Amino acid sequence: MATSATTEITFEHMSHPAPVPAAKREEILENPGFGTNFTDHMVSIDWTEGRGWHDAVIGPRAPIALDPATAVLHYAQEIFEGLKAYKHGDGSVALFRPEANAARFNQSAQRLAMPEMPEALFIESIRQIVKADRDWIPAGDGASLYLRPFMFASEAFLGVRPAKQYKYLVIASPAGNYFKSGAPAVSIWVSDYTRAAPGGTGAAKCGGNYAASLVPQAEAIERGHDQVVFLDAAEHKWIEELGGMNLYFVFSDGSLVTPSLTGTILPGITRDSILALARDEGLTVREERYSLDQWRADAQSGKLVETFACGTAAVVTPVGKVAGREVDFTIGSGGPGQLTQKLKNRLVAIQRGEAPDPHGWVMKV
Ligand SMILES: *Cc1c(COP(=O)(O)O)cnc(C)c1O
Repeated sequence: MATSATTEITFEHMSHPAPVPAAKREEILENPGFGTNFTDHMVSIDWTEGRGWHDAVIGPRAPIALDPATAVLHYAQEIFEGLKAYKHGDGSVALFRPEANAARFNQSAQRLAMPEMPEALFIESIRQIVKADRDWIPAGDGASLYLRPFMFASEAFLGVRPAKQYKYLVIASPAGNYFKSGAPAVSIWVSDYTRAAPGGTGAAKCGGNYAASLVPQAEAIERGHDQVVFLDAAEHKWIEELGGMNLYFVFSDGSLVTPSLTGTILPGITRDSILALARDEGLTVREERYSLDQWRADAQSGKLVETFACGTAAVVTPVGKVAGREVDFTIGSGGPGQLTQKLKNRLVAIQRGEAPDPHGWVMKV
């Protein structure tokens, strides 16, 4: 993997001619929602074959003009990341494991035949936008600045081959507490569609995976559920993940299981963090295959007491009900479980600087 300790690229700073007025910004920050409001700035860096990364700019957030033949519009060569900046109690600003996002971004880039970015440059790009839009970080319970780095094939060319030009951008969006008063348990639908096949792009964070998950997700909503869960493509038996969150199963003996990273599951940073925190607590966590049939049997026998989904956006979400063409069962009492809440609180406390950070996950900006 291409990494470098220092970035030789310096960012050009372009000041914003007309940032959102402070009063308007404060109004937005009182109730930011998720993904609908954006900050004043963005990062832009270009990559050209033979030249590498160049023209790094932190400047005003603005539309980008694309030639109609731009490769991404035709063959979906695009990857992204998602991470958050938090305002700590002492007024400082922190990121959570940005180097893990940088590493995963490069793994996604490899799978989509795109150039890798030095990890130091990725992290510097995040720091640049957080510094420029520092006033956009909402304070308060569960609030953060959601950061969205992404890269796409920007060459105007219709041939089928990796593009020779790419654009990397970072935009930022203030995010409120995903769930106002603690996460309610969600109901999930077991999809007959598959999200990822062996040898496919399931482990890469690419927009195409999401495009393919929209019909299954809409079907879940239509049937009265909140989210969709996907089974493996080969046997349609093993539980993989939700459209954008990984899963954990909690047993009555206090142990946990999360599906192993087989190549069809996205390696979540929240998943990995919970793995470490649960082990810190002395809990047994197994990464292994777990089938839908077993899930139902264990929920009905009482062996399985909790299930939760996890990811950066909503952190930890309890699963209360599961239904599919051949199954319909409730997990525990159908509400949020105790261990789910405990692990969530542990993770959030570290992210917010309210608890010690034994793994060195928090990076001050
Ligand atoms: C991003 C993502 C996750 C969660 O990853 P985090 O790093 O924890 O945010 C899980 N599944 C899919 C498909 C994803 O795209």
